Amino acid sequence: MERREIEQLVRTELVKNVLQTQKFIIAGNWKMNKSKHEVISFLDEVANHDFGEKNTIIIAPPDPYLYLFEDKLRYSKVLYGVQNLFPKESGAYTGELSYTTAKDFGAKYAILGHSERRDLFLECDMLISKKVRICVQNQITPILCIGENLILRQGESYKNHLMGQIKEGLERISGEELSKIIIAYEPIWAIGTGVTATPQQVEETHMFLREFLIQEYGSNLGSTIPLLYGGSVKPSNVKDLALAQSVSGFLIGGASLDASTFKEINNILNGN
Ligand code: PEP
Repeated sequence: MERREIEQLVRTELVKNVLQTQKFIIAGNWKMNKSKHEVISFLDEVANHDFGEKNTIIIAPPDPYLYLFEDKLRYSKVLYGVQNLFPKESGAYTGELSYTTAKDFGAKYAILGHSERRDLFLECDMLISKKVRICVQNQITPILCIGENLILRQGESYKNHLMGQIKEGLERISGEELSKIIIAYEPIWAIGTGVTATPQQVEETHMFLREFLIQEYGSNLGSTIPLLYGGSVKPSNVKDLALAQSVSGFLIGGASLDASTFKEINNILNGN
């Protein structure tokens, strides 16, 4: 066997080992997609699927389907959450979803501050921080989304932008509460565009964010807050992205809509 082949073999084994041992969070964001019929067939395909022990599997469907998730995933490893919620218990907030309703239907996670919410519905950091707070107080794990647009990325000021989004989003959270937070780094230029950040870009940004979290919140909490990557993740790129340092998992839009693709991503992240 030639040296190059041996090196390749060693690397393949190493990669397999990393993927087989590291715990990943795999979160699907369905956005405003799927009919009732499609939801039922997806759930029938994943409810009893063997996802393995180590990865955490989450799906955030459109709210009306939460009752189906509660019903079909009762004994499943697959967890679920909401794509947004309003930071009030109840009241005159037309069109909004309360955390109490989300909890009533068994939602354990809430995607907050997604760039589509920020851009299309003008959500600001202050409102997002209230949502983060209400979730933490009510045993719903917030997935706080941050990310820069292309102009910020090209102008190099994106790091300040990301730090600002974290600081403000977590403004109402302190001490041990920080251990209940998940952060998702989603460069806007990579969401739904088919353009994925390269593993090098992801590693560079995640390491920067990790350093910032440690400096801001201390080494214990700062080093353990999960940092997901999101932006055109699919079976063909997930392995390389997973090997980037400080990637704790993925927030996935398009590729989470198809049950086989979603299962395949988990399979890859199990080292299979
Ligand atoms: C998202 O909406 O959070 C997302 C990452 O979408 P996609 O995977 O389709 O880019």
